[in-house]
Amino acid sequence: MLDVAAIRRDFPILARQVRGRRLVYLDNAATTQKPRQVIEALVRVYEQHNANPHRGVHTLATETTDLYEAARAHVARFINARRAEEVVFTENATAAINLVAHSWGRATLKPRDEVVLTHMEHHANLVPWQITAAETGAVLRFIPLLPDGTLDMDAARRLIGPATRIVAVTAMSNVLGTINDLRPLIDLAHEFGAVVLVDGAQSVPHIATDVQALHCDFLAFSAHKMLGPTGVGVLYGRYELLDRMGPFLAGGSMILKVEWERSRYNEVPWRFEAGTPNYADAIAFDAALDYLEALGMDAVREHEVQLTAYALGRLAEVDGMRIFGPPDATRRGGVISFYYGDIHPHDVGTVLDYAGVAVRAGHHCAQPLMQLLDVPATVRASFYVYNGRDDVDALTDALTETAKVFGYAARTRAG
Ligand code: PMP
Repeated sequence: MLDVAAIRRDFPILARQVRGRRLVYLDNAATTQKPRQVIEALVRVYEQHNANPHRGVHTLATETTDLYEAARAHVARFINARRAEEVVFTENATAAINLVAHSWGRATLKPRDEVVLTHMEHHANLVPWQITAAETGAVLRFIPLLPDGTLDMDAARRLIGPATRIVAVTAMSNVLGTINDLRPLIDLAHEFGAVVLVDGAQSVPHIATDVQALHCDFLAFSAHKMLGPTGVGVLYGRYELLDRMGPFLAGGSMILKVEWERSRYNEVPWRFEAGTPNYADAIAFDAALDYLEALGMDAVREHEVQLTAYALGRLAEVDGMRIFGPPDATRRGGVISFYYGDIHPHDVGTVLDYAGVAVRAGHHCAQPLMQLLDVPATVRASFYVYNGRDDVDALTDALTETAKVFGYAARTRAG
């Protein structure tokens, strides 16, 4: 089990107050807070090593290059990639998916080829494919959801076929919390020679990830959702695939030889890292991975299953509560979206903020899914390693207050 009290002491921001109350940070699916170890690692880069990597022969440039490449190797170990060169640093998960949609998609997709997505995708794994489909004549197909918020696998078996070129699917929904059973989907796609991109933005921070066991071809995620700094994303790609792909952005670093009329591109992964990379934040991300590994990813997952089960139970006690996603905490991550009585989610979020409780209210970059759920928006509480039962209690207490503010006749049966 995680020692939540000890973990909280590592996060300076958790010591601050919001509107005179203890900060209860439940917006981790949007971004996570940073431990002192990560903040210090970032300061250390600028105070001791800072130079442009891969460009100089002086000591600082060599140190920064070594630290940047060490961070890459650490990411590779964290997701069990076969080699460090399978890890491309990007700006965020969105940029990683765009890289695939652009470089792989434009070179591969032909008219009437099919791109299979699901009805629970974040805009980041939908809009890039809309653009690539419009440019190439490819067609988007969608795996629908069952009423419990899981993927309709029978429909998936009907949809994925000889015309499928790529299946791009989230490992975990940022709205419903659903954890998708990816292996059957990946095996099915591979049977037809399609590749699979997994959007791991919500799963990699919370569940041990092994790209070799998963057999995925691409995996995208963001450092800022896993205790790391903003501005760093990761695209994992199978080496053979990346090696066959052309560049996305072009300029310095991504070249081997440049002539006036043409250029020869660099090797993978540097081919995809044009310009000065965000080396400082990537190096600090290394410290975030150290932190998570010290906790143990299995312990992180176990903590969240227990906290989510507790939260689902407490929220179910609140009258007028409509909770989305699978009811079983072992089939979902620590993300709970709900609609409370007839109160607009933005109003709920605002009143919760007066109690120091930070949640997300909105469409969560999943507007078509909101239409399917038949709500304009939801309130979303999402957990991480520093959250405990006291945070869930603060949430449910503040919800009862919200009901009073809006004159809504909701009350918690537990008192
Ligand atoms: N996919 C999912 C499932 C997400 O939840 C998010 C972040 N909300 C993203 C992709 C995009 O991540 P980023 O904004 O860091 O690029």
